[in-house]
Amino acid sequence: MKKICFFDTKPYDRIYFDLMKEKYGIDIEYFEPKLNPRTAFMAKGFEVVVAFVNDTINKETIDILYQNGTRLIAMRCAGYNNVDFKAAYGKIHVVRVPEYSPYAVAEHAMALLLALNRKIHKAYIRTRDFNFSLNGLIGFDLHGKTVGVIGTGKIGRVFIDICNGFGMNVIAYDPYPIKDSGIHYVSLNELFKESDIISLHCPLTKDTFHMINAESIKMMKKGVYIVNTSRGALIDSEALLEALKAEKIGGACLDVYEEETELFYEDMSYVVIKDDVLARIISMPNVIVTSHQAFLTKEALHNIAEITLSNCSDFFNNKPLVNEVCYKCGKGENCLRSEGKRCF
Ligand code: NAD
Repeated sequence: MKKICFFDTKPYDRIYFDLMKEKYGIDIEYFEPKLNPRTAFMAKGFEVVVAFVNDTINKETIDILYQNGTRLIAMRCAGYNNVDFKAAYGKIHVVRVPEYSPYAVAEHAMALLLALNRKIHKAYIRTRDFNFSLNGLIGFDLHGKTVGVIGTGKIGRVFIDICNGFGMNVIAYDPYPIKDSGIHYVSLNELFKESDIISLHCPLTKDTFHMINAESIKMMKKGVYIVNTSRGALIDSEALLEALKAEKIGGACLDVYEEETELFYEDMSYVVIKDDVLARIISMPNVIVTSHQAFLTKEALHNIAEITLSNCSDFFNNKPLVNEVCYKCGKGENCLRSEGKRCF
């Protein structure tokens, strides 16, 4: 039986991976720490390492893994902005789970928007204390409002369907618009100017880093709501904080935060939080922060375990790696994957 190791393990990960491992003939050694240059030595002797969104998979980590025998990093997530692909190329293959449940993430985005707009987070706490006052709990109808969706991939499209169900006017921006989709595409600036609500569903890249910043916020309507279930660094958090204080941004629903790595997924309730920007943002009545949990449904966890282990099994059985990603992917440069081979 092949054995793999697994970083940043949480109890809910183990449930689904343990259920599935026999089917793939794979045993798993679970490690609690995140993968980074300080912990990479733990993977010594493991050909396959399973990693997650807040692991630091930079050149240093990759070099340590490679020297110690690792040849595959299996990301158990869709996003891969935390991997240095140039450092990995030629040494360690990287696979991911491109799709596990776009519904989980899109539904969470709408859950955050509904909760914040209708002040459910406030009402829940009030009624537990037998405070039945409605003062300060006024929301607005989503029906008829313009929602700007940035990124019309798998999750963005499900979110658009949900918004259409609410009778919202949906506009979208994507550098690769989908032909004949019926989606009303506009320029990014137009989206910033026209939207009552902006929801981010694009990957974090050099182009999208801090796309919500002081300049773009200036273009937006006063009172705009921002929803981010994608990646934290799409938003310049300091600019967001200033705009919330100035009441230019009317509400922020954040499942991700640019400096989340050391905080999210951990119980920090007994620790003095040093990040003043996050502490101030969380203190706002018109902000809801969840801890990168948009993916957390039974269906998504089941699919993540299944696809990750299938990726690992393909690696062990010398099969093509259908979910491999490298720095050349999508750029059309001598793509071996399009010929049904591994990236290198
Ligand atoms: P996807 O690849 O199907 O879609 C991404 C879309 O973004 C594509 O249509 C692409 O053309 C578009 N895009 C690329 N560059 C862009 C730009 N500069 N501006 C606007 N759009 C751009 O990905 P997906 O499955 O829909 O996931 C979207 C993102 O959601 C992921 O990148 C990931 O960061 C995030 N995510 C978060 C969670 C969570 O738990 N919070 C879970 C899964 C995914």
